[in-house]
Amino acid sequence: MALLSICDPQIDALIRNEEKRLSETIDLIAAENHPAPAILEALGSVFAIKAAEGYPAARYHAGCDQADALENLAIERCRRLFGAEHANVQPHSGVAANWAVYFAVLQPGDRILAMRLSHGGHLSHGATASATSRCFSWAHYGVDPESEVIDYAAIEAMAARIRPQMLVAGASAYPRRIDYARLADIAAGVSALFMVDMAHIAGLVAADVIPSPVPHADFVTFTTYKTLGGSRGGVILCREKFRPAIDRSVFPGCQGTPALNMIAAKAVCFELAAQPAFRARQQQTIANARRMGRALEKRGYRLVSGGTDNHLVLIDLRPRGIGGDTAEKALADAGLFANRNPVPFDDAPPGRPGGLRLGAPAITARGMGPEEVDQIVEWIDRLLRHPQDLALRRSVREEVSALCRRFALPS
Ligand SMILES: *Cc1c(COP(=O)(O)O)cnc(C)c1O
Repeated sequence: MALLSICDPQIDALIRNEEKRLSETIDLIAAENHPAPAILEALGSVFAIKAAEGYPAARYHAGCDQADALENLAIERCRRLFGAEHANVQPHSGVAANWAVYFAVLQPGDRILAMRLSHGGHLSHGATASATSRCFSWAHYGVDPESEVIDYAAIEAMAARIRPQMLVAGASAYPRRIDYARLADIAAGVSALFMVDMAHIAGLVAADVIPSPVPHADFVTFTTYKTLGGSRGGVILCREKFRPAIDRSVFPGCQGTPALNMIAAKAVCFELAAQPAFRARQQQTIANARRMGRALEKRGYRLVSGGTDNHLVLIDLRPRGIGGDTAEKALADAGLFANRNPVPFDDAPPGRPGGLRLGAPAITARGMGPEEVDQIVEWIDRLLRHPQDLALRRSVREEVSALCRRFALPS
């Protein structure tokens, strides 16, 4: 960043401080990861400049030869990675991808059945705070109060009653596998379209370490920065018959020019995700999350659904009498970043939810394994037993930095 340090030292300093924060602290945010630096190089490339409205060989700007080759390669790599009939790699984010799917095939006011935010769903699935809630008529399903696993029989009954035009699956804080075949059947039974938002788990799906929704869903959306290990950006996969509607909905329907630098970064991300080392890393991510869950349970913590099948665990802190906000702050001061999260049937206010969500993707990207997971859980337990002890936070922070020095960020 030699030029930036001369032209804008303030921003240069913030970037350096952020690099330092990343390297000296431990990222347990389930939605985050440490991308390969090659991905950031692609993101910072001259492709950030080009205006290229439209699609390869059908642009509204001249000079798109390299842009066309780039986007075609990204589409081809993405289709191959997920075994999809069509991929649109232009959405600027996961939420933008969801908007484009909704408006590709639905009319304002149409009925959509999706997972409730407080049970693990996402804002863009019709939560009150999201503008999606104002455009469609939403109904929400959740998990069973006993098992805390998705209640498929209840979804079937709701679908029969509501007769939605679309059924949406996918979540941000759900530690279990989703039965896509069952949901596809439920959707087909009421002639609803079936969309899966696999933002969190796209890396696990790409590596084939958990089942893929692609064979079962009409549309699959995701982001490239979570388990997939890329940088920010959205993608839509769909069946060939929906290709024209999806492409028109992304551009000109919902977006203008594509961010070609982001598409370059997505293409590199897909290339890396197709390699054997990526599969091993995703397997290790699940193993680390499982171990984290078991170690927490041994120390008396209650996990939502009693464990995990993917990259995250959700701790129910209510029996411990600590708010998720307090837990998040105590950990953050010690250099451990996680996020407060509602747990199903939680009636706490949104700023003070009863849970804490922990993810294994970023620690796994640094090469951490079972020993480090056990150490991290020991720190978390110590901090949560004494959530107001500031000296303890400082001493754990020293230990965290020492561990981080042994596990460099991906290079
Ligand atoms: C993270 C997430 C998104 C949002 O992606 P952005 O890139 O932040 O827009 C969408 N859906 C689900 C289920 C997510 O977990």
